[in-house]
Amino acid sequence: MKRLFLCLPLLLLLTACAPAEARQQFFAMDTTMTVTLYGKGGADALTAVQQEVFRLDALFSRTKPGSDVSRLNANAGALPQGVEIDQDTGDLLSKAASIGEMTDGALDVTIAPVMDAWGFGAASSFQESEFRVPTQAELDKLLPLVDSGKLHLDGHALGRLAWLDEPGMAVDLGAVAKGYTADKVRDLLLEAGVTSALLDLGGNVTVMGTKADGGPWRVGIKDPAAPASSYCILSLSDQTASTSGGYERNFVENGITYHHIIDPHTGYPAESGLLAVTAVSADGTLADALSTACFVLGVDKALDLWRDQGEAKGFDLVLVGTGGHVWITEGLEPGLDFLGEEAGYTYEIVRR
Ligand code: AMP
Ligand code: MG
Repeated sequence: MKRLFLCLPLLLLLTACAPAEARQQFFAMDTTMTVTLYGKGGADALTAVQQEVFRLDALFSRTKPGSDVSRLNANAGALPQGVEIDQDTGDLLSKAASIGEMTDGALDVTIAPVMDAWGFGAASSFQESEFRVPTQAELDKLLPLVDSGKLHLDGHALGRLAWLDEPGMAVDLGAVAKGYTADKVRDLLLEAGVTSALLDLGGNVTVMGTKADGGPWRVGIKDPAAPASSYCILSLSDQTASTSGGYERNFVENGITYHHIIDPHTGYPAESGLLAVTAVSADGTLADALSTACFVLGVDKALDLWRDQGEAKGFDLVLVGTGGHVWITEGLEPGLDFLGEEAGYTYEIVRR
């Protein structure tokens, strides 16, 4: 009999936790989000949380006409004095730029023209997309537009003005927006006096504080081959676990599966030998950015990055290889429950 742990909806595994004081589910950023707040003040804070998520969605969306990102993209190459953007959009763009540098360009938010060429980008929802495999000639034309070096932020009042150098360039914050939103929601909750919460923002699970008994939260990580199950459970406190994988969005043409995480150097879906990556950090933006970037980098480069900067920047990784081997960095060892053996997974703890 399979011992694989069947997840609760949205992969939140709550063992012996305190009764939920307040929970709300809503749709934003192209995904279903579930917010669960515990303790005093939770019910009152729910509305504020939802408003904050909608506010950020209205800034970061590629499809909402008045969003900061839509205006930035619409004026690419045309408005050298820059487009007025919100402080939050500026903060996110500048964080994404520095994580882009840290990952040698594996994360690049100017990936949008290539996303569109594959049909993963501009449609207002996933279902409306028209997927296709672009020709190499098309990609060769588009790749010079994928260059964060040509995305500028005003140096004097950081985050107030942004511009893209060339017509046809465009920004897509899909790899980082949910992590940033989780950080903003956490800050808002702390200000409201809520210290215990679970935020599931579609692939990004953020835990605040600990369970009522003082123990860490137990968060199940999706099996990329059977996303209704978990292959492992992590013990987390005050952290975000962000998971990226080719299984999330893809299409099949002539027997080949093409997924939505693109290698900015080739313009093709990253083929780095990974099925999924989970990045864990107290910094939700970093976790979200790194789950995408490490999926592009592959095992060796991702583990090198962790060895070089994991401690200083505060992140850990779970990497699932196409052959079923799982690399888990040592910071996640305490309280780890590996459930994937019977589904054919093997694992090792990676040490510095
Ligand atoms: P995530 O689910 O966080 O891994 O983000 C995937 C989304 O990020 C895709 O749907 C695209 O919108 C965008 N994206 C894909 N590849 C990249 C990349 N290499 N750098 C930045 N954004 C990307
Ligand atoms: Mg991401």
